[in-house]
Amino acid sequence: MIIHKEDIDKIFDAARIEEVVADYVTLKKRGVNLIGLCPFHDEKTPSFYVSPAKGIYKCFGCGKGGNPVNFVMEKEQMSYPEALRHLARKYNIEIVEAEETPEQKQSNNDRESLFIVSSFAQKHFSENLYNSDEGKSIGLGYFKERGFREDIVQKFQLGYSINKRTEFTDAALAGGYKFEYLVKSGLTIDFNKEEEKTTEEPTTINHPAEKKYVDRFSGRVMFPVHNIGGRVIAFGGRTLRTDKKVAKYINSPEMEIYHKSDVLYGIYFAKKEIIHQDNCFLVEGYTDVISMHQSGIENVVASSGTSLTVGQIKLIRRFSNNITILYDGDNAGIKASFRGIDLILEEGMNVKVLLFPDGEDPDSYSKRVSSEELKTFIKENSKSFVQFKTKILTTEAGNDPIKRTEVINEIADTLSILSAIQREPFVKICSQELNIDEQTLINLVNKKHRTRFEKRKIEPNPTTETPSIETNEDINVDDLRDLINPCEHQERDIIRLLINYGTNIMQVDSDDADEDGKPIQIDISVAGLIIHELQHDNIEFENILYKAIYDEYVVQLEKENVPDYTFFTNHENIEICKLTVDLVSSPYTLSNWEQKSIFITKEEDILKSALHKAVYALKSRRIEMMITDIQKQLKENPPEEETMTLIQTQHSLLEAKKTFNLLLGRIVVK
Ligand code: ATP
Ligand code: MN
Repeated sequence: MIIHKEDIDKIFDAARIEEVVADYVTLKKRGVNLIGLCPFHDEKTPSFYVSPAKGIYKCFGCGKGGNPVNFVMEKEQMSYPEALRHLARKYNIEIVEAEETPEQKQSNNDRESLFIVSSFAQKHFSENLYNSDEGKSIGLGYFKERGFREDIVQKFQLGYSINKRTEFTDAALAGGYKFEYLVKSGLTIDFNKEEEKTTEEPTTINHPAEKKYVDRFSGRVMFPVHNIGGRVIAFGGRTLRTDKKVAKYINSPEMEIYHKSDVLYGIYFAKKEIIHQDNCFLVEGYTDVISMHQSGIENVVASSGTSLTVGQIKLIRRFSNNITILYDGDNAGIKASFRGIDLILEEGMNVKVLLFPDGEDPDSYSKRVSSEELKTFIKENSKSFVQFKTKILTTEAGNDPIKRTEVINEIADTLSILSAIQREPFVKICSQELNIDEQTLINLVNKKHRTRFEKRKIEPNPTTETPSIETNEDINVDDLRDLINPCEHQERDIIRLLINYGTNIMQVDSDDADEDGKPIQIDISVAGLIIHELQHDNIEFENILYKAIYDEYVVQLEKENVPDYTFFTNHENIEICKLTVDLVSSPYTLSNWEQKSIFITKEEDILKSALHKAVYALKSRRIEMMITDIQKQLKENPPEEETMTLIQTQHSLLEAKKTFNLLLGRIVVK
């Protein structure tokens, strides 16, 4: 569902940052700002600032900052539209979401009905576990034997499905739950449906004439699957039979409230600790998650039977940028899981890997050792994905030269996902482990990186459910930084001035002169001045985010409007929000918060000189780059004619550089 732009504006207009934050943090007045203990990290002395005037918060301890919507997103772990709806409720703003069709309404009811049926089932299975003879002896007995503590069994709402063909379905029907939803939820299998007949295991079905349905999970211990908000959406059931004829685990089928590829087992119980530890452990299944919780490690989730998907990675990314994958010692699927590592890296996240000893998985290992030993083991044995992948692949390739080349290629592929800065430390390790020249590896990776980046430009990200808003969240800062930008500092400085002082008006000499031959003074905004200066030399920004901001200024100025910083701190592109909040709340500008935009002459001078300095610095840096480029070309001994042109260009560039340095020098002295 899409929230209209007008409603978004209304929400931003109504939401007072100090009120939104005050729901979570005790704030004290400090000058024109408010200050409190940061809700995003542990601290004893407050470094968390709220500026009612600027409509932003900023923690100088952990660096988090943003507008009211960002605050709710961060604090409540909500998506952008969810946070908007949350604030709309707080401020009683009615939002008109696109009108629902009858099918959509039906589907909402379906969803709700499925939630209700699932919740009933969970309670029923738990009830069996604690209060029926069969459940106590067989179900609870099994969990005890596995070593699950009572409190853990309760916490994860484990249960037992009685070993009778229709016990659950009959109880649900007697309780008034509709057959339709029992079937949709997968808890009941309906034999009238042709497709179900064929998928069910023939050995267990021997249906009597009068009953046309059967419980899917009968005779199994039950693991409810919770969504991120803690509602039960599906089940996994483990058989207690030892014969190989039945599947050890069966799971609920796909349905409206349960899309396997977007679900992680344990996320509800793990999210708080994932934020706290700023890391998420990824294991194989239900029992691994539960055993680790029992050992006191709660930042753990499982992908449960499927290979890791982008949806699951994005779910983790809402809480942390770091994932550690825990592998069984005898996991035959390790190589197949390499795709998962690449997917995590492609999402701009960090990934580590831990291999358990032969024959152990997180479940068995955490049973064998103490909680402390487990934590130490994990800490000491977590490896970078590069070390891990290199080791596995080189061991497999042995001395076969062709296979070794393939390994190098494959590792370079993975490294090429990373930006040059991110990959630097890994390149070194790899060149040693793979025994190849570092520069050769760098060149190979660079080449692959370019191909990858160009390919991505052509294929834009597929849009998500609410295209007008959520696609913006998918702009990944690390992707943007991929283009190593040699003018980063200079560009950032200009954007900082634009954001903070763009609307300030100053007097400058125009190109026209008055009767006495003196230049006529004109009033111009700082934004206008900067744009005039840069357009004069056709300078464009390399950093895509800076460029987006700059271009937006150009567009607005053409409309004779100079946007102030709130235009950007409240921007719907979250990366722009975060960047501009950083820029308006740097300690440097903070001291000026009280003065707002009134400049007495002296301050105007300071600003003017800062402006010129920033513009000249960027231009000068650009010239330096052009000179370097020419020198590189000259080294390759081009034909004489070309050499002459190059030398001439170089000469004029050096002259220009001198002029700029002179200008810069004068300004610095002043
Ligand atoms: P055992 O007692 O024999 O070790 P287990 O219940 O621990 O059995 P494993 O075969 O060790 O199960 O598998 C480990 C994890 O993998 C389990 O916790 C389970 O969640 C998950 N798993 C295995 N098979 C499936 C499956 N078909 N669907 C979903 N999860 C599965
Ligand atoms: Mn096991």
